[in-house]
Amino acid sequence: MTEEKTRCMKCNHEAIIYQPYSGMHLCKKHFTEDVERKVKLTIRKNYNIGKNEKIAVALSGGKDSCVALYILNKIFGKRRDLELVAITVDEGISVYRERSIGYAKKLTSEIGVKHLIHSFADEYDISLDELAAKERVHGACSYCGVLRKSLVNRIALDIGAKRLVTGHNLDDEAQTIMMNHLGGDVERMVRLSPPRELEGLVLRAKPLRKIPENEVELYAKVNDIPVDISLCPYKHEALRNEVRLMLDDFEQKHPGTKYSLQKGFDKMVGILAKEFPQAEIKKCTICGQACTADVCQACRLLGKT
Ligand code: SF4
Repeated sequence: MTEEKTRCMKCNHEAIIYQPYSGMHLCKKHFTEDVERKVKLTIRKNYNIGKNEKIAVALSGGKDSCVALYILNKIFGKRRDLELVAITVDEGISVYRERSIGYAKKLTSEIGVKHLIHSFADEYDISLDELAAKERVHGACSYCGVLRKSLVNRIALDIGAKRLVTGHNLDDEAQTIMMNHLGGDVERMVRLSPPRELEGLVLRAKPLRKIPENEVELYAKVNDIPVDISLCPYKHEALRNEVRLMLDDFEQKHPGTKYSLQKGFDKMVGILAKEFPQAEIKKCTICGQACTADVCQACRLLGKT
């Protein structure tokens, strides 16, 4: 007896995915179109891409940032007035980061996008491995995230980028929203909202925010995008792991939970922004980067105070 293949609900070809939240089975073509449609809609609704802009893309070599760059290049690559520049930060995570940088280089050379690589060692005189080996109060991810964000912002500013794209997907966003709820951190939630222009901070954009993580992975696979799928050795230290497990479990039992969480947040954020206006932006007295205190978080974490 031959096994009956599940068919795409749009064209009757063999389906490669079932989306429990939409009830749809989709083939490769219609799945790819579905992802790209959601990305285009996200960009149109949230990020006003003008003419003659330089768009920086934070590229780690992992699936999310590679897919973000690949789709942006597909959407904007032919526009002569826009320039995409990929920025990779080498935090100095032995083996892991060397491998993922290899994937980032492969992708940028395949699609012809300019690629800049900067390291913690050059910028901060210390690698993440060295920082992690020291006596420390925070998890490695706290140092990594803050220092990387600061460095990527500085490079994007230096090259005159108008936008800084990151590969955050639906799961990342839902986890962050939930973590802020659990921590009662309402002000931090406001900072997640579609950003406004602030001096010294390049506008952020998250075009994959409506794409579930498993779909980002599948999109990379079916479109032959070179991506690193290995895990960072410090990942187990990340606080969000517990929240991830909880949300994945909930999503499985109640499909659409992550979208609902994000939708609720999107409705709430405008109201919250009125209650918690953006803090005044100053310049860090040590490194000169934009921040809300006298000394930025990166300099504080590096013990420069
Ligand atoms: Fe950095 Fe943590 Fe991500 Fe590893 S898992 S790259 S340490 S933020």
